[in-house]
Amino acid sequence: MLVKKAYKFRIYPTREQKRQIVKTLGCSRFVFNHFLVKWNDTYKQTGKGLTYNACSAQLPQLKKELSWLKEVDSIAVQTSLQNLSDAFSRFFKKQNKAPRFKSKKHLVQSYTTKQTNGNISMEGNKIKLPKLGLVRFTKSREVHGRIINVTIRRNPSGKYFISILAETDVQPLVKTESAIGIDLGITDFAILSDGHKIDNNKFTSNMEKKLKREQRKLSRRALHAKNNGINLLGAKNYQKQKRKVARLYDKVLNQRADFLNKLSTAIIKNHDVICIEDLNTKGMLRNHKLAKSISDVSWSSFVTKLQYKADWYGKTLVKISRGFPSSQLCSVCGHHTGKKSLEVREWTCPACHMHHDRDINASNNILAEGLRIVASA
Ligand SMILES: [Zn+2]
Repeated sequence: MLVKKAYKFRIYPTREQKRQIVKTLGCSRFVFNHFLVKWNDTYKQTGKGLTYNACSAQLPQLKKELSWLKEVDSIAVQTSLQNLSDAFSRFFKKQNKAPRFKSKKHLVQSYTTKQTNGNISMEGNKIKLPKLGLVRFTKSREVHGRIINVTIRRNPSGKYFISILAETDVQPLVKTESAIGIDLGITDFAILSDGHKIDNNKFTSNMEKKLKREQRKLSRRALHAKNNGINLLGAKNYQKQKRKVARLYDKVLNQRADFLNKLSTAIIKNHDVICIEDLNTKGMLRNHKLAKSISDVSWSSFVTKLQYKADWYGKTLVKISRGFPSSQLCSVCGHHTGKKSLEVREWTCPACHMHHDRDINASNNILAEGLRIVASA
């Protein structure tokens, strides 16, 4: 099966390459905004927008008038126009808001270039990119397959990254004849029906605490600037702290992504049928704002990863509906014991006298329900 995979790496452009990247970002932004104005004007006059082709046909003339547009990667400029056109299509399908002007002040700046005639290639720990030449990067993993496109990104802390999208042929994994139930937890990240509890990754949660602390400091500095009548853009300490928070946030997200990738791969490798509860069941259980946003993102991204890896490797992911009372049933005899408050971590079944760990019992019920669904499908 042909699948697309994304790879993210940090790159280390030279001063000259950085200049070129910034220039390309500027041109991409310019073209996007330029045609956004035209699009809106045309819409006001005629009640109809433009098309990608109509705009694209104007590009050569624009380049004649503004020769600096010719100094950057022409595919990046073209892609920017494509993005505008896509944004309008989604807008007209009511999938999102109308496209807005791209600002230099946006925290993350990026442009995308596409593979044509070998303009992108890897040579050891360097990647060849249009108009940039060879750029050094940290090759933390092998890129498999044919490169489709590369997005070059500059984050708020001034670091540069690339996301490579490559297409590769994936072979199904060997069948293990094993099935597993997964309960997404509150204290532990996930509880498996084989008794494994996967904790919330201590290191990550330490980083999250640190992030929380630094975010509080940021709000204090914003308040301080406000009280002294200083504009935030000119408030040096605030801006410095803002960059620090952005850096930390990046780190937390990267660590999380890495953790979820490894966990989902291991589960898909070891089991043929993976049963998991529908996410919304537990969405409301957390109340710490930041912790909530990060774990919510983690849960949904974990299920997404399990889903596409199951598709790639010929495994089955079964989602159990919201109404299934996974924590109310005895997984041994099926006795229904009713709702239990969250403090109850262990309990004994009044019917068969089996002593249960709340979460492991739930994951066993999820497994049984998943297997029932598979058998009846
Ligand atoms: Zn029982």
